Amino acid sequence: MSLITISGFPCSGKTRRAEQIKAALESRIQDAGFEGTKLKVAVLSDHILNISRDVYKDSRAEKPARGALFTAMQRQMGQDTILIVDGMNYIKGFRYQMYCAARELKLRVCTVYVVATQELCKEWNSKREDGTAYAPETLENLLMRYEEPSSMVRWDSPLITVPWVDDDVPADDIWKAITEGNVKPPNAGTQAVPKAPTDALRALESTTAAMVSAIMAEQAASASLGGLVALTMPNALRPTVTLPPRNVTLSELQRLKRQFVTVNKKAITLGTIEKGAMDWSEESIASKYAAYIEENLKP
Ligand code: ADP
Ligand code: MG
Repeated sequence: MSLITISGFPCSGKTRRAEQIKAALESRIQDAGFEGTKLKVAVLSDHILNISRDVYKDSRAEKPARGALFTAMQRQMGQDTILIVDGMNYIKGFRYQMYCAARELKLRVCTVYVVATQELCKEWNSKREDGTAYAPETLENLLMRYEEPSSMVRWDSPLITVPWVDDDVPADDIWKAITEGNVKPPNAGTQAVPKAPTDALRALESTTAAMVSAIMAEQAASASLGGLVALTMPNALRPTVTLPPRNVTLSELQRLKRQFVTVNKKAITLGTIEKGAMDWSEESIASKYAAYIEENLKP
């Protein structure tokens, strides 16, 4: 049903805030006056996934750790769950990815920015007694690399900021964002008859595979690199996609295809619950995958 992304400096109080949010939401759900469907509040964090703080010493170790968090997140997101991702989530691109995954499932989202000064974070880190303190250099490095969320970009908004001086979290605002906030409508304009899920899964696989082949063929046949290309598909569709001005490799396209298929497979399965809410025509899949390629292919 929704995704709450926590973001903040290391040792700024994110886990404490995540616990406060969880408690506040659970009490609302359990409240006798609450009439919605039964919801579960789940929390994900490095700690829960057994990811050591040491991964942040080294960006080669950090990448798979981030991947593990993302995979776990995709697994737990769903219509009956409020998922709180308690992590630094300090990379703008990563927050964007999380937002896209949530949107594919039509979840409401909100970002909670936990704010404390760098001095306080250092102080709290040095006082940690549970053996989970960051090495001072790692902390310094993470503070420097932190990419602040902004309410101006769609993937960070609505953005709810919680400063360290506040005793509690603004539970009303958070509740509102995740229960009443906008859910982006499915891609309008190409509304076709909804297909059965097995058909949709087959269409998802075959359409994306055909597009990968078509892009490779187009690239091999064309003298210039990149730009807007119209793809020749086995069916009558002629989807267009804008490619970067360089040679795009098959493995890049296949990786994007796998990501796209994984995210959408889940959406299709959930789509059977809210029948007809989504459009899984080949045309719609083709245009969504083209947009996905454009957004995710490195320039
Ligand atoms: P994070 O999850 O961001 O690493 P934690 O919630 O684990 O941060 O908090 C880190 C440390 O800072 C803990 O020891 C906690 O008790 C302390 N702390 C967190 N928020 C505050 C606050 N607002 N005031 C005082 N101490 C705090
Ligand atoms: Mg924490």
